[in-house]
Amino acid sequence: MMKNLTFLFVAIVIFACQPEKIELIDLHVHLKGDLTIEEAIKKSEAENIPYGIAVNCGLGFPVQTDAQVDSFRQYMSQYPQFYVGMQAEGREWLHLFSPEAIAQFDYVFTDAMTFTDAKGRRNRIWIPEETYVDNEEEFMDYLATTAAGIIATEPIDIYVNPTYLPEQMADRYDQFWTIERMDRVINAAKEAGVAIEINNRFRIPSATFIKRAKAAGIKFTMGTNNIDKNFDGSSYTREMIKTCGLTQDDFWVPEKK
Ligand SMILES: [Zn+2]
Repeated sequence: MMKNLTFLFVAIVIFACQPEKIELIDLHVHLKGDLTIEEAIKKSEAENIPYGIAVNCGLGFPVQTDAQVDSFRQYMSQYPQFYVGMQAEGREWLHLFSPEAIAQFDYVFTDAMTFTDAKGRRNRIWIPEETYVDNEEEFMDYLATTAAGIIATEPIDIYVNPTYLPEQMADRYDQFWTIERMDRVINAAKEAGVAIEINNRFRIPSATFIKRAKAAGIKFTMGTNNIDKNFDGSSYTREMIKTCGLTQDDFWVPEKK
């Protein structure tokens, strides 16, 4: 009898300590490189992770007009298993698409990786030759303010590639992303009701950022921003779920249209 009770007790403890099974959707998948739609179907099924397929929309990108939005939407309607996302590019996208075209997507996201600086230079901070850092601290202030401004003013659901730093500064993430700068972004997202992506490829934002954002009541999404089909399912996000104590309720899910 005693033995049975002990067994029961151990079983209950083990059950209670199981981490909650959180269902994750990768909302930042691009049909790029060798990731064709057929490969995306296969990979999503094999890894049991639903996808949102996002298309880049903006000046100099594959989709630049309402008519191109219509065609993409029509193409994707053959694949109802996927969410369909708009990656809004640069800051020009606001003038390129009608509200009706934007509303065709299940969700809209953007990042703060393209912006015009105080000297009028158009920065694309993932390209070293197009990143203008005269002074790192000033650059950082401008970047944090820009990200907060984008979140506050553009009609988006998710801020992606969050807290991304140019290559030459990325090794000092914690130095540049001070609490004050993090909170500028977090407060803007809270105010605007914008979710923040946990990005598997760049492994950002940091646990410190995620904990502060969670405490502020921000919702998260998972995204990869893949360049081909070689990306690992969800390891950084799973790691952050554990480290930051995230639950299903902390994740935002779009509605399929
Ligand atoms: Zn992307």
